[in-house]
Amino acid sequence: MFLDGNRLREVFLRAKKERFGIIASNVVFDSTIRGVLEGYDKQKSDGLLQMSTGACKYAAGSSKSTEAGAEIISAMVKSIAKQYKNTGVGLHIDHATPNYFDFVKFCIENNLVSSVMIDASKENFEENVRITKEVVAIAHKHNVLVEGEIGYIKGTEDEIVSDDELYTDPQEALEYVRQTNVDLFAASVGTNHGVSKGHKLTLQLDLIKEIDDLLIKNNLETGIVLHGASGLTIEQQQKAVKNGVVKINKDTDYQMVMAQAVQAYWEKEKDAVVRPEGITEDNYMPDKGRFDPRKWMIKAENAVQEEVERLVQIVDSKGKSILI
Ligand SMILES: [Zn+2]
Repeated sequence: MFLDGNRLREVFLRAKKERFGIIASNVVFDSTIRGVLEGYDKQKSDGLLQMSTGACKYAAGSSKSTEAGAEIISAMVKSIAKQYKNTGVGLHIDHATPNYFDFVKFCIENNLVSSVMIDASKENFEENVRITKEVVAIAHKHNVLVEGEIGYIKGTEDEIVSDDELYTDPQEALEYVRQTNVDLFAASVGTNHGVSKGHKLTLQLDLIKEIDDLLIKNNLETGIVLHGASGLTIEQQQKAVKNGVVKINKDTDYQMVMAQAVQAYWEKEKDAVVRPEGITEDNYMPDKGRFDPRKWMIKAENAVQEEVERLVQIVDSKGKSILI
């Protein structure tokens, strides 16, 4: 079932209270949407589907209109989600930078999404707060949640930054959350993502706990988000969740398993479309029973479903849908 922002808030509050994670899965086609939903539904877990601005452009075809693409993906997500009764899912916009402000506003005002991420982390702190607050004002009026991120490194534009400066400062995080009133906060704790991309950082999972403790101490219900989690071990992901992460973003994992599943299919079934050596043109007939796209796309879809089921069990959201 599709969840609006208010119901999605319940999902994150429960996750925060009971210390489990919600998997946020990047989607673009009906196949990925269905694969992800099958996985959540089978495990009776809630979840989030997210679309990047790049995914929206892709979905729109040659017009590359992010607005048109968001309408298409949102319509697919909402109608496909109706088929699944054991999972509540929201739709989220991943990493919208300030130049996508009008796009974000369009999606909120046209009721396309349950939550949005405004990523003004490249701006300085004051500017980031200002832009984020503006998005929060529009979003909360329409019951849409907002995720924000900080990341600007002070006064170091031309200098080499020290690794320490690439981690979120808990006090700064608290200040940002307080001033902006975001519902979700993306922390930089050493995954290969955002400001720390390209730097080899040590993962600081205790930093999550430090930020989370500080937010709780200040009566803020904000959930912490972990980006760039595809390379983490099971233990690291579980510790991140126990320390306060409620939303774990997943994109690369799915891309990999889809490609592997399709590759394995075609390695085996190559002769369905390619004439094997030694067989003459006259004696070769391509095999429609094997090249029908439904035959191999379903392999990708099933691989996504299996991956979702695996991830849901790692973050312990299995059987915890607010719908059951
Ligand atoms: Zn991200």
